[in-house]
Amino acid sequence: MIREIRINPVVPTESVLVATARSMRPKKEEPPAPHDARPHVPACPFCKGNEDKTPAPIAVFPQEGAWQIRIVENMYPVLGDDTEDPNFAFGLQQAINGYGRHEVIIDNASHGIRIHEMPDDHLALLLTAYRIRMEQLYHSNDRLKYVLVFKNFGPAAGASIGHTHSQIIAMPVVPRNVQAEVRHSTLFYEKSRQCIFCNLIDEALTFEATLYDRESGALRRKINVGQFVIEKSRKFIAIKPFASRYEWEVHILPLTHSADFLSSTADDLADLAVLFKRTMARLNVLLGGVQYNFFIHSLPHGTEYAGSAPAFHWHIEICPRTSIPTGFEMGSGLSVNTIAPEDAAARLRNVTLIES
Ligand SMILES: [Zn+2]
Ligand SMILES: [Zn+2]
Ligand SMILES: [Zn+2]
Repeated sequence: MIREIRINPVVPTESVLVATARSMRPKKEEPPAPHDARPHVPACPFCKGNEDKTPAPIAVFPQEGAWQIRIVENMYPVLGDDTEDPNFAFGLQQAINGYGRHEVIIDNASHGIRIHEMPDDHLALLLTAYRIRMEQLYHSNDRLKYVLVFKNFGPAAGASIGHTHSQIIAMPVVPRNVQAEVRHSTLFYEKSRQCIFCNLIDEALTFEATLYDRESGALRRKINVGQFVIEKSRKFIAIKPFASRYEWEVHILPLTHSADFLSSTADDLADLAVLFKRTMARLNVLLGGVQYNFFIHSLPHGTEYAGSAPAFHWHIEICPRTSIPTGFEMGSGLSVNTIAPEDAAARLRNVTLIES
């Protein structure tokens, strides 16, 4: 049994209560959503043959032949570029004009296909589509300070359309959690001249810590940090964070230091596609059709962030939703994780994947 508060090594102001005792399970379990596996749904606006039900595509992949991925404007954007209202400040209340872009990436022509079921080369094309569109948006307007790519899968995770899709939001501010990651990793870099994410990867690959009692010298606890590795490829690693907010949260990082997802090469993304698919397949075996979000955290492009390039390390965070946050979590800001991350990692690692 574990009952301890684990500090997020990157953002120390965020901590997680890891409490595996039965009594610490007041949480309501989130049931997996029924999965609609149909390849084609006649009424679906994202399915083949219904292209006229969406706005004209912003981009189509591949450029020749039948489309496999389409990027279209979101019909119900949370941010838009059609207003020119200035920012305003009134006393302590401030608002920044909701300038931005909100786009939908139709991940695949097949309606109900899931990430781990997509061929490797398709996933590489999807990651390439993310990269190309992010780059275009950063260059389209100086007011866009951050471009966020994310996916919601399943109704509780926020997906409103059953057809597999991701989203891109280009926004006039850098989100608070990205700012916190950049700020804290930069502080770490200023002290140690090292990237904290590279350090965490090195620890995961090599480190075994033994804690001894200071007085008696007796062995108190052995931490095998390597037990947090889920998958490793030529260029990427999938890790279960030591201080995971969610029971089945997994992070994917490039093995070689890189601050900006946009600097990924075609070879990087082809390698990432395979590791990403294997990671999603492992989660699927253990959690079935569970709802999840994933998102990319990459160094913001503003000049004020350029100095943080040696400190920040881009990554993908995958957050399966197996329970609903409790009042305790929302009120305290402390996440409660009822499965020890090392146990979750072991279970994910022990999944036998059927090669496809
Ligand atoms: Zn569809
Ligand atoms: Zn790094
Ligand atoms: Zn992050």
